[in-house]
Amino acid sequence: MSTNDAAQKQPSKSPPAADPIALLLAPISGRLKTAGVLAALGSMLTLVPLAGIAHIARLALDDAGGGAASAAALTQAQIWATVVVCIVSLFAGMALLSAAEILAHKADNFITHHLRVAATRRLAQVPLGWFTSRASGEVKQAMQDDINTLHDLTAHFYTTKGRTIGAMLISVLYLFAMDWRMALICMLPFALFFVIFGRAMKASEASMHSFVAGQARISNAVVEFINGIPVVKAFGASGKAHGSYRAAIDAFIQDFLGFTRPLIGSVANANAIVAPVAVLGVVLVAGTWFVHMGWMAPVDVLPFALVAPGISASMLLMGFITHGLRNATGAALRVQALLETPVLEQPAQYRTPQGAEIRVQDVDYAYNAQNQVLSGLNFVLRPGTVTAVVGSSGAGKSTLARLMLRFFDPSQGRITLGGVDLRDMDSTELYRRIGFVLQEVRLIHASVRENIALGRPGASQQEIEEAARAASIHERILALPRGYDSVIGEDALLSGGEQQRVSIARAVLLDPPVLVLDEATAAADADNEVAIQDALSRFAQGRTLMVIAHRLDTVMHADNILVMENGSICEQGRHGELLARNGRYARLWAMAGLSGSQADTRSEMEQPC
Ligand code: ADP
Repeated sequence: MSTNDAAQKQPSKSPPAADPIALLLAPISGRLKTAGVLAALGSMLTLVPLAGIAHIARLALDDAGGGAASAAALTQAQIWATVVVCIVSLFAGMALLSAAEILAHKADNFITHHLRVAATRRLAQVPLGWFTSRASGEVKQAMQDDINTLHDLTAHFYTTKGRTIGAMLISVLYLFAMDWRMALICMLPFALFFVIFGRAMKASEASMHSFVAGQARISNAVVEFINGIPVVKAFGASGKAHGSYRAAIDAFIQDFLGFTRPLIGSVANANAIVAPVAVLGVVLVAGTWFVHMGWMAPVDVLPFALVAPGISASMLLMGFITHGLRNATGAALRVQALLETPVLEQPAQYRTPQGAEIRVQDVDYAYNAQNQVLSGLNFVLRPGTVTAVVGSSGAGKSTLARLMLRFFDPSQGRITLGGVDLRDMDSTELYRRIGFVLQEVRLIHASVRENIALGRPGASQQEIEEAARAASIHERILALPRGYDSVIGEDALLSGGEQQRVSIARAVLLDPPVLVLDEATAAADADNEVAIQDALSRFAQGRTLMVIAHRLDTVMHADNILVMENGSICEQGRHGELLARNGRYARLWAMAGLSGSQADTRSEMEQPC
């Protein structure tokens, strides 16, 4: 299993919270409940005019029966009073509904901001090595798409729920107050709806988690797929390329069917049963029967005909928003998983290193249980010395570089800088003291100036230019359309080697006493490579330098050479000493002699250490 696999599995490591939405929205639960109650009261008030119409109809019909002029005047007064009550209720209801919406939207603004800040803080503490392309797919989905889904929930779900519950409650109470027998009959379709809908929900519940996991897999596969397109096109292996994307989609189809199959048919039936026209039909049939039996006057059927179909509308709206709630549950699970991403261990108190000596003591590292990558590493980087690390591909050189930069922590042992365990140092302090130029150059979408000054945003233009000169990239930057203001990826389209020199300028500006270089010339063409080597040798002067070298000519003059194989150091010493020992390094050198001093060490050492 790779880190990518590990990253994919991370969200499922922590057991899902009982109610992930409640957990995430805890800081605004009071505001959301208040908004829900206001919306419920508002919707109750806006329904008063319907009862008013039925009441006015009854008054008018009673009056039409004939009677004294005084009685007619009284009826008219009652009708006007009812009209006034209806209008006041309508406006008061609308005001409450607006207040509820405003409250919910403000709460939504707060929580969206709060979650984004919390996620950013968390990501600032996770090991740098966690940020694989798969992880970036997850981060993008959680921080962008899922938080947007939660926005729909917080801004609209609770007020809509309040409105529908309020409307249903007041309607049911009103109908029972009018005639409980008729009200009971009107309720039958709704009772049936709940039974069918509840059973369907229960059946799909079991598939919810695999549905959510499937969505995350697709998101990751899309990122991988898009990242891989150039390579795939170049090598004409398009069939294989989208293999993992297709596998994710095929698996998702099963998850999706498992989740939706129990829902589709049942929900359609349930919806038909409570459609307003179906409820109106029930009211009219039951009303005709009641009138025929003499249990009710025809005008008393009117409240049921007016109000009961409205319950349907609320019920259907409830079903609709419940569907949204299920999407939001998936989103909340992913945001929760992101907020629980394992972070680097933090000390109770940071310690400040004294000096720039690095000691690697009994260090082991495993990316996962099956794959012990480094074991029993011991060496010292003395201040002002150059240490070269050589070894075949897969020997663990880059992993060692990542540990020195605390992309991960060792599984066993420790690495100290100036006598302080890296785990006890503030990361800002660490990166001020250990600069790095790695194989994979990461430039951000910002101006060239900002990219160089990333570690020292307060640096002056002169300092930035000096760093760029030292990294042999100043002239190239001046040739860009907007010089230092050109934006990477927009008007600053730099080659791999040029990007590498920008990253060297970034390290130069930080002026760290220790420098870790991992195959820094890997992305360069011949011209660039000379420029990079010049820049690095100028920069390395007087610093503690550890270079992961793949060319023997760059290691000859090192103060110490570590020869790595299968995650261990099998030899170490100066060039002359190692040659005299006639071991692995000497063999390597002999082979390099056959093919020139620029031999590639990565393919040479195939035998065990
Ligand atoms: P080198 O730099 O010497 O080529 P690496 O440090 O890159 O070696 O890799 C050492 C071993 O660790 C290899 O077997 C490689 O497959 C494994 N490895 C490297 N990176 C990861 C990762 N992110 N997740 C899991 N295994 C990894």
